[in-house]
Amino acid sequence: MTQISPIHVVGGGLAGSEAAWQIASAGVPVVLHEMRPVRGTEAHKTEGLAELVCSNSFRSDDAATNAVGLLHAEMRRMGSIIMRMGDAHQVPAGGALAVDRDAFSAAVTAELEAHPLVTIERGEIAGLPPAEWDSVIVATGPLTSPALAQAILDVTGETSLAFFDAIAPIVHFDSVDMDTAWFQSRYDKAGPGGTGADYINCPMDREQYEAFIDALLAAEKTEFKEWEGTPYFDGCLPIEVMAERGRETLRWGPMKPVGLTNKHNPTVKAYAVVQLRQDNKLGTLFNMTGFQTKLKYGEQASIFRMIPGLQNAEFARLGGIHRNTYLNSPKVLDETLRLKAMPRLRFAGQITGCEGYVESAAIGGMAGRMAAAERLGREASLPPVTTAHGALINHITGGHVTTIDEGPRSFQPMNVNFGLFPPLTQAPTKAEDGSRLRGTAKTQARKKALSARALADLDIWLGEVRLAAAE
Ligand SMILES: Cc1cc2nc3c(=O)[nH]c(=O)nc-3n(C[C@H](O)[C@H](O)[C@H](O)COP(=O)(O)OP(=O)(O)OC[C@H]3O[C@@H](n4cnc5c(N)ncnc54)[C@H](O)[C@@H]3O)c2cc1C
Repeated sequence: MTQISPIHVVGGGLAGSEAAWQIASAGVPVVLHEMRPVRGTEAHKTEGLAELVCSNSFRSDDAATNAVGLLHAEMRRMGSIIMRMGDAHQVPAGGALAVDRDAFSAAVTAELEAHPLVTIERGEIAGLPPAEWDSVIVATGPLTSPALAQAILDVTGETSLAFFDAIAPIVHFDSVDMDTAWFQSRYDKAGPGGTGADYINCPMDREQYEAFIDALLAAEKTEFKEWEGTPYFDGCLPIEVMAERGRETLRWGPMKPVGLTNKHNPTVKAYAVVQLRQDNKLGTLFNMTGFQTKLKYGEQASIFRMIPGLQNAEFARLGGIHRNTYLNSPKVLDETLRLKAMPRLRFAGQITGCEGYVESAAIGGMAGRMAAAERLGREASLPPVTTAHGALINHITGGHVTTIDEGPRSFQPMNVNFGLFPPLTQAPTKAEDGSRLRGTAKTQARKKALSARALADLDIWLGEVRLAAAE
């Protein structure tokens, strides 16, 4: 065993801890480099591994109808240390899995310290990892130290690493009222990779527009933390800041009504139009174009449902702007999360463009499994895209649409959600008692079927991986 040379993991957060655990569990030695307490970040407060920097919740634990609950279940089946310690140190939180953050972090640290194949080194990797480290997982998170971030920038290029996200809300297509909205690109322009009817358009008359502006101006906003600074630049202002600059600003910006004809009402010109652009190749998710925002989450859902066509919108993600560090992964990573320009570096966690503790840990686990398989002379195998892990990796490396039109890069961090999964070939239409499914019952049945498919496909994949390991 000890003849196998180690894999290096940089960053002992959620992703790095899970990656190190999966590598060691596969029988491969691993060196985990964590810079705390030698050097801190703006958000971490302890020297513990897998520190939760803010909330203590892993969100819903409902594996049947919630995508993050499903991710929990998949991780448990893969022997995740983050889930095992999360379960061991949970605190009461209804349907959510919340943990005692100090006990959780201490338990992850102790378990990794005790593993004979894990070495923990405290200190910053302040530049590209040394050339003799032939297999490295970079899991340094949203607050990657500046020296390493600069080195990654130098390898990947200027637009490949972002230091803030500017997230516009994303809506599930099947919740948009297409009897009010319509498909059309401005001036019917096809553009590169488009058809001329790529956007969903939601029309507003003057009264609706004025009410919408009033709601934006009155809504509660989230403040930036002092260390985040204020990252606004004119191409990327939050909509509420645009509204504050003048009531007409949005009508001349992301809500301009020109070049569009309402197919449901062709003779009446809309006063303003909200456009939504396809976000994933599956066509199940659409983002609200130019609608990055710092409005509080509760305010966003109610204000955006004022938009005609979005009155019943279900949001896969709400908007936000945060300090972050993440790659333009669809461009710079291969499908097994390796940097195309330097394949000895594999990335994991939030730096790849997933969002959240659980998602970061899940991607860490996958990166660890793939690196360990390669070290043992086997192929790095990916779970099917029908699983939560597969769907999330697919979002990071390939499922996102980037070419409908020109403009700022559109890849933004994302939590796991059912919009990332390929639709069912046959969606359930009837309840167990034979009655026809409608409304919420229909949505719940669809989610249950997606979850059941995911867990069945994951089990088949895990069986294949075990077989390959035994050969
Ligand atoms: C302020 C803030 C609040 C957040 N709140 C939440 C929340 O409430 N819920 C949620 O689900 N998600 C939250 N997130 C998002 C995110 O999912 C978490 O940050 C998550 O911890 C990311 O996991 P990670 O492993 O990728 O990074 P981290 O958990 O941040 O781990 C990265 C580790 O790398 C270390 N490191 C950095 N650079 C180097 C280097 N050069 N050398 C060695 N070590 C290095 C860091 O010290 C850190 O321990 C928040 C993010 C931020 C910034």
